[in-house]
Amino acid sequence: MNAPVSLVVPGQDIRPLRRFVTGLAAIIDSGAGQAAILEHGGALLGRLVSQGGWLPEEFARPHPERYQQYLLHCDSAERFSVVSFVWGPGQATPIHDHRVWGLVGVLRGAENVQNFRRRPDGTFVQQGETGQLREGEVEAIDPQVGDIHRVANAFADRISISIHVYGANIGAVERATYRDSGEERPFISGYANEVLPNLWNGVIRA
Ligand code: FE
Repeated sequence: MNAPVSLVVPGQDIRPLRRFVTGLAAIIDSGAGQAAILEHGGALLGRLVSQGGWLPEEFARPHPERYQQYLLHCDSAERFSVVSFVWGPGQATPIHDHRVWGLVGVLRGAENVQNFRRRPDGTFVQQGETGQLREGEVEAIDPQVGDIHRVANAFADRISISIHVYGANIGAVERATYRDSGEERPFISGYANEVLPNLWNGVIRA
């Protein structure tokens, strides 16, 4: 018989992620609207990404060719999902949208974010300067304001990792990527992993 397998390295403390998940669920359970979810959930995410050591190595692994999205948790009613984005050196997304609210917090390294808006002819124009999100910082994504952007690792010589939270099971959301010409391509991101970290091993104390 095989020995029991745990994705949580002995001594690794997954509890910060568990606290984040239960805290965000409590905010949503309270009936908070999107603005309050982004505000209070953003504060929780800021706390999560200010702590190191909780993300198991399996969900921090880069791929040589493309950025990775590892599902860390999905709410049982798919009201939210938590994903680790692992950026290899220089890796970037295409221009894409989300169609649900989101929160992005940088755990390690930094990422560059360029927002876009559509011209009347359907092509895209950059909106504002490229912003940089650094370790410990959190940014909200609000489809009511505009949720089309391109994100890249800010570093050409090191890995960056950000923790993303979305108002749905984001890997299954039908959304779109875009060419610079504005051409829209249907997109369902999926996830890189089949197995999730165990948040529920042992007793949690506030
Ligand atoms: Fe995005």
